[in-house]
Amino acid sequence: MTDSLASLASLVASRLRDIPDFPEPGVLFKDFTPLLGDARAFGAVVDDAVARYAGRVDVVVGIEARGFMIGAATAYALGVGFVPVRKQGKLPGETRAAEYSLEYGTATIEIHDDAFPAGSRVLVMDDVIATGGTVAAACDLVEELGGEVVGIEVVIEVAALGGRAALGSRPLTSVLVV
Ligand code: AMP
Repeated sequence: MTDSLASLASLVASRLRDIPDFPEPGVLFKDFTPLLGDARAFGAVVDDAVARYAGRVDVVVGIEARGFMIGAATAYALGVGFVPVRKQGKLPGETRAAEYSLEYGTATIEIHDDAFPAGSRVLVMDDVIATGGTVAAACDLVEELGGEVVGIEVVIEVAALGGRAALGSRPLTSVLVV
């Protein structure tokens, strides 16, 4: 890890709040709303991603809902478009879907079929990677549309849940590993 990423990690850590048993018993929820509410910290996270991807991506894909917050700000700062990956039934146009496993049961996310042209270089963003199922499904959708996942950026990686392994060789950068 570079010095700047290490100091950014401590800034992020200081702006996170752990909420036990949310949204269900046994989950320690990593709440990044204090980070979003702090202009310096939010800006530093966006600037860090921009430094890594400036000129290297054509579009940012953000995953509902917290991936929209970090992803849309980063897309704007990079000067590229933003594409939402949403929960089933929320996108109005023609979509394609990917189903993935949760601890109990499955979930489905969708992307618009015409979200970006084939061959686009894509940065995928979310707030947290836990088991990796959500981000991996979003990457599958990007690749089905002919996009190239140039990078995956998350603010927080819950290392014990092994999400990084679920992504295969796709490059993941996490600002803070917990
Ligand atoms: P996963 O598919 O297991 O990697 O879960 C990632 C998705 O669930 C992300 O969209 C996160 O926003 C959310 N998530 C999972 N675990 C947590 C957690 N401990 N704190 C906050 N969000 C979480």
